[in-house]
Amino acid sequence: MLYLDSSSTTPIAPEVKDAMLPYLMAEFGNPSSKYYTLAEHAKKAVEKSRYQIATLLGCNADEIIFTSGATESNNMILKGIVESYGNSEKNHIITSKVEHPSVLEVCKYLETKGFKVTYLDVDQFARIDVKQLESSLDASVLLVSVMWGNNELGSLNDMSKIQEICQKYDIFLHTDATQMVGKVDFDLNDHQGIKFLSCSAHKFHGPKGVGVAMLRKDSLGLPTPIAPLLHGGGQENGLRSGTLSVHNIVGMGKAAELANIDLKKNIQKLVELEDALCKVLEKKFEDNIVFNNDTKDKIPGILNIRFVGFNNEILAKKLAPYVAVSTGSACSSAYPSYVLQASGLSIEEVRMCIRFSLNYYTTLDALEIFSRL
Ligand code: PMP
Repeated sequence: MLYLDSSSTTPIAPEVKDAMLPYLMAEFGNPSSKYYTLAEHAKKAVEKSRYQIATLLGCNADEIIFTSGATESNNMILKGIVESYGNSEKNHIITSKVEHPSVLEVCKYLETKGFKVTYLDVDQFARIDVKQLESSLDASVLLVSVMWGNNELGSLNDMSKIQEICQKYDIFLHTDATQMVGKVDFDLNDHQGIKFLSCSAHKFHGPKGVGVAMLRKDSLGLPTPIAPLLHGGGQENGLRSGTLSVHNIVGMGKAAELANIDLKKNIQKLVELEDALCKVLEKKFEDNIVFNNDTKDKIPGILNIRFVGFNNEILAKKLAPYVAVSTGSACSSAYPSYVLQASGLSIEEVRMCIRFSLNYYTTLDALEIFSRL
């Protein structure tokens, strides 16, 4: 079976598995314990991973907080900022209509707690209009949370401009970078306006159940303090209690190291694979397909295609024995995509759409399966 659902998750890289195994077996120590070697080894492994991830993102290792994934990071950051800095004068959050549910549902929850949320419109590729963002800002805005790369269309928001604006007005900016880490060349050093970032290991060949919340250091040189989501033993500088999942953290670090070493090569490969997949599908389906995704300023390896006259659920089911695809985000697959609807498609059109997403391990040969179907 050809796996083309890499935006929902990716296979673990063999090197990642090898790096993790010792921490599931002999090196089982708790990094919060002290003095003895097992604990020290675990602590060292966690710090190495923190450094590897910081190197990939372009931030400092002490700006990295380990979580269980991007859902937790998004919850922690949004709720934490609001709890620590929100008040009757700073009570307004700006986000977009196409964020992941782990941002949108938190925003809806915060509305029930009295916060005002503006959900920005998007264009046909699910990008926000930077001018609209700027005109929405007023003295009440505490936080802007806008995703960097979209999980259904792959489009990248203009984060350089967005972070510039938030810096100019001194507003907290959070970005959900889950889909683009490891697939887009960026450096947080060039985006000082981004104060918070979320990502997840399993989207770039790391294990599931581990992610990162990046909390930028403040003017005192400390990671911007926010109220923790989880209280307890005070791990991660009190920001995220709970025994660290050392094997997962080691896996995420290794995946980040691999992504960093091979970034340019991997991007090139994803671009070539995407190109080949377009050609194969065009040949197979001729005039019956319309590309919903943009061709530029996007995450390589994500295509969103409308199969005119076909029902996407029936098509995905028919393809399932041969090719794994999805009709949208795995996290909201029960409903017709709100992302595509916000991008201007009618419900009928949305019901014809399939997302194809590639990864470093997809091969050109494997794509030929479409010609045999
Ligand atoms: N944000 C985006 C953009 C995503 O695509 C996902 C995963 N579907 C998440 C957040 C949540 O990540 P996780 O499953 O690791 O919690």
